[in-house]
Formats: sequence, structure tokens, C-alpha cells
Amino acid sequence: MVFTIENALIATPDDYSSTKVLITDGRIAGISSQLDTVGTSINADNKLLLPGFVNAHTHSSEMWQRGIMSMFPLELWLAELYDFAPLDIEKVYLSALGTAVETLLSGGTTVVDHLVLIPGKELETIATAVRAYKEVGIRAFVAPLIQDESLAAGIPSGDTKQTHEPYFRSTQATLDIIEEAVKKFHCPEKGINIAVAPTGIQLCSDALFKGCAELSDKYDLCRHSHLLETKAQEKLAKEKYGCTAVEHLERIGYLDYRTSLAHCVHLTDKDIAILAHTKSTVVHNPLSNLRLGSGIAPILKYRQAGVNVSFGCDGASSNDSQDLLEAIKIGSIVHNVTDFDYQHWITPHQSVKMAALGGATGLNMADNNGSLDVGKKADLVLYDLTSLSLLPRTDPIGLLVLGRPVNVVDSAWVNGKQIVKSGNVTTIDVQDLRQELLKHSQWQKSRKSKTAAELEKHYRFVMGL
Ligand SMILES: [Zn+2]
Repeated sequence: MVFTIENALIATPDDYSSTKVLITDGRIAGISSQLDTVGTSINADNKLLLPGFVNAHTHSSEMWQRGIMSMFPLELWLAELYDFAPLDIEKVYLSALGTAVETLLSGGTTVVDHLVLIPGKELETIATAVRAYKEVGIRAFVAPLIQDESLAAGIPSGDTKQTHEPYFRSTQATLDIIEEAVKKFHCPEKGINIAVAPTGIQLCSDALFKGCAELSDKYDLCRHSHLLETKAQEKLAKEKYGCTAVEHLERIGYLDYRTSLAHCVHLTDKDIAILAHTKSTVVHNPLSNLRLGSGIAPILKYRQAGVNVSFGCDGASSNDSQDLLEAIKIGSIVHNVTDFDYQHWITPHQSVKMAALGGATGLNMADNNGSLDVGKKADLVLYDLTSLSLLPRTDPIGLLVLGRPVNVVDSAWVNGKQIVKSGNVTTIDVQDLRQELLKHSQWQKSRKSKTAAELEKHYRFVMGL
């Protein structure tokens, strides 16, 4: 497949210029206004061309509970989430499609789905998400969410003696499921990757982290995890390890250049230095951190320490959307209220680089993705600069990041294959998806989570509330 994008606006170091971009065999073969048009010609008049962004952390099936979750902090919110989690494969499929579409239409060409597994149907859940992402054509990192401790173990004990039920599946059985998924589905050339993804220190044993690191080494897989999202987790790490979670994860060998860590809200300066020297990536999920009251991750500190940072929407139940441009906007400017030195504030051009190249770096694919360079894969997005929300003409990247862009994605390609055209996803029927989502859900108001009610008293006590 050969085509030439003509007259696309691209950012140069000091300005913008209109240029031609030649794509052959799924890669950028040339960028210059002097190129001959080869293959199909794509008219990009008044359109901005950017590398595709990475939605570097989400949980697709949370789509079913967006807008209804109680105003809870993470630990109680999780209890409610799991009490009402969909246990239906069809729903897994539909929400993966929905997550892919919303990511694409807000500038993302890659999604990391920290996928919640239906107990007893783990491989089927993974197969279903893989099928959905293949159908849409988005580049996907399916990261099955695993743990080997029960939910209550995620809350610190404080001075109380707490015992927890054992988790329903053994650590080895869980690792076996992941290895099976790798053998069946991991296929980077086709845009589907499996990542190892223990949910976090709050619910995982060292044996699970180590087993995941071994699988990562054996099959060269990315490693993903939540990290220090809440004050409770910071406290729990001290109880569990007698040191910080980051110190512990480094000690057991989980951190390296393939490791991306969602949230990272409560880290010490020493922790930050560890992330920098292990080349781990921080995935910034600002909307989720605000929604759950987790805090504001010290992203400007990470950037100054040389830690790679990317953006994620997080699951739609803690966001409650899947709009990557919104996460990028809030995740860029939220620090202006906590960090007084404006010279470190994130500029829109830096935000775009974090979302694209930062995202690619965190997934160990920066050699092939994340920027407009000859030789890189054609994961590209064209934005319509004649949209009312991007007018009048000023700095298009400034307006894309800081404005409130509405329906601005005109085209998107993944691996050189066009999957969004004239603002519409071309690979699946989105009207049909809307009907299915409507059909499989109902309007409702409040719900009562039994598990959250059981945990609440202890949570309030141990957190001093
Ligand atoms: Zn998450």
C-alpha cells in the first residue's frame, strides 16, 4: 500500500510548514514538499498531521459503569466496581470496541488495556478483547489484570490484626494463563501485544511480580502495573515491605525500560531517582486521580529527573470518559497550581511529544513509533483545522491541547492502514456499536455496594477519617 499525504501541516522546530508525506509498506518513506506524489493522493489541506498518541492506561470493561460510580476513594471505589463488574463476554467485546473508537477519535492510535478478566473465562476474555482490537485495527497492548491476593488485603491494617481470605486461584495458575495468552495472541507485527500486568503491590505477592518479570524476559514483553496511586497504598507498602513500593519493586527486579507504571502519585525523591535510572515510565492519569481524590502526581518533578512520562485515560469508571485529548489537557495544566515555577510548566508542544513519543517509549517501541520521522511506522492522525473549535487560526497544537476540540480527528492510520476517514471509523460499524451498547444497558441511578459497605468502617478507621 503506497500513498502520499499532500499539503499536510506539520510542526517544525520553530514554526509550521506544509509538506508531503509518502507512506510505503506501513512506514513513513519520505517527508518533503519536493516529493513526487506516489500511489493514492490524500488531500490534507488545512489539516494538521501528528504522530498517533498512546492511551497508555485504561480498563476497557469499565465503560459499563461510567457515570454511575459513587464518589469514593480508590479502595472503596474498587469494591463497588467489582460488585457490579460485567461477567459477560459480549460486554467485554463491546466495551473494547468502544474504548478503541473513543481513543482513535481523540488522537490515539495505540491503547494499553489493563484488562479485567472474568473469573473462569480468563483466556476467553483476552481472546475477545484481542478480537475487538483487531477488528478496529488500533494498535493494542492487552495487559491482563492479575493479582493473587483478595481485595481486602489492599487496605492497610494499621494497628488492627487483619486476616484475608486466600485468592481463589494460585499464583502459578495465574502465570500459566498469561503464558498461554502470550503463546496464542502476542503478535507485535500484527499490532497485538500481550503485556504482563500484575495490578499492583497492594494485591500481588513477590512471587507474582517475579513470575511476570520472568515471562517478560522470556518473551520480551512489556511490563505494566499500577503504582502508588493512593495514600493507602503508600501506607500499605510500609507495612508490607518496611520500605517504599518503588524500592521494593527495584529490589525484586520488576523495574526496567519495558516497565510502565500507572499513576505514581505518592513517590519520594529517592523513588523518582530509581524510576529514572531503571528507565521506567510513568503513565499520568490526571482525571482518574482527581475523580478518586488520589492526588496530583508530581509530573514536573519526574520530567526534571529525566523520567519518561506518558498519558492515560484510565478506565472509564474513574474518568468518566475515554477522551485522550481531555486527559492530555488536564494532565498538562493541573501542575500549574502545585508547581509555582512556571518555567517547568508543560507546553502544548511538550504535551504532544509526551503523548506520542513518551507513550511509544513506555511500550519499548520508540524506535518504530511516536514521531514523524522517515523509517518510522505510519501510525498517524490528521486533525481538521477548519473545525469551529480549532478556529480562528493561531497555534494549532496550542489550540488542540489547551482548547476543547470537538470531532477534530479527520483521519487516522495504524501501520499505514487507514482506519478513520472523514471523521468516521471505517473498520467497524459505529452506528451498530451504539445500538448494541444501548441494548445491553439501562438507565439507572444509585446502587449499593455490599463489599464497599463491609470495608468502609475499617478504611475510615485506618485512614484517620
Ligand atoms: Zn487503572
